[in-house]
Amino acid sequence: ETDRAIKDPLTGLLNRRGLTERMGLLGPERGALIALDIDKFKLLNDTLGHAAGDAALLHLARILQEQVRGVDSAARVGGEEFLLWLPGTSLEEGVRVAERVRVRIGTGGWDWQGRDWPLSASFGVAAWPETTRSRDNLAAQADAALYAAKRGGRDRVVTWSTGPSGASG
Ligand code: GH3
Ligand code: MG
Ligand code: MG
Repeated sequence: ETDRAIKDPLTGLLNRRGLTERMGLLGPERGALIALDIDKFKLLNDTLGHAAGDAALLHLARILQEQVRGVDSAARVGGEEFLLWLPGTSLEEGVRVAERVRVRIGTGGWDWQGRDWPLSASFGVAAWPETTRSRDNLAAQADAALYAAKRGGRDRVVTWSTGPSGASG
């Protein structure tokens, strides 16, 4: 297995394949998955340029690495979408971590060539076994919750839930 096959070249985080491998490892009795997507990233790119966008992605990747434990995994799985896998972590604790990262992104301050730019992200959280009996469902659930967070106005953490008012409704 080469590094390149499981890592994102821009940020050095795992890519989706690398994260899937980590999540498949036996061992934890439970775990939480956090999906996050930068808010209004297209506006940042269109206003400040692609190089600024890449710098913002690196900034976010550093925050994620600094905010999680060594046993956790951070991955970049899309242009500006990331996943955090927290093995051995409950849903409640996963939500706390997501909220802490959200606040850190908003208060950290980020500028491009001296121009301050507000950064925020939306988060979806799912956990095994609290929201699903199968680890295979976690990514879809976290993603659905993330989209509920976007619909709800962005810059927030939403937990996966069923029903018309929930993430999947
Ligand atoms: P939302 O709040 O709904 O997430 O809006 P958004 O603008 O973040 O989302 P959208 O999907 O409309 O746009 C994502 C943008 O991310 C499109 C593209 O300009 C930018 N992007 C994707 N990958 C990269 C990358 O590797 N580098 C840079 N600089 N920009 C990227
Ligand atoms: Mg986005
Ligand atoms: Mg996106």
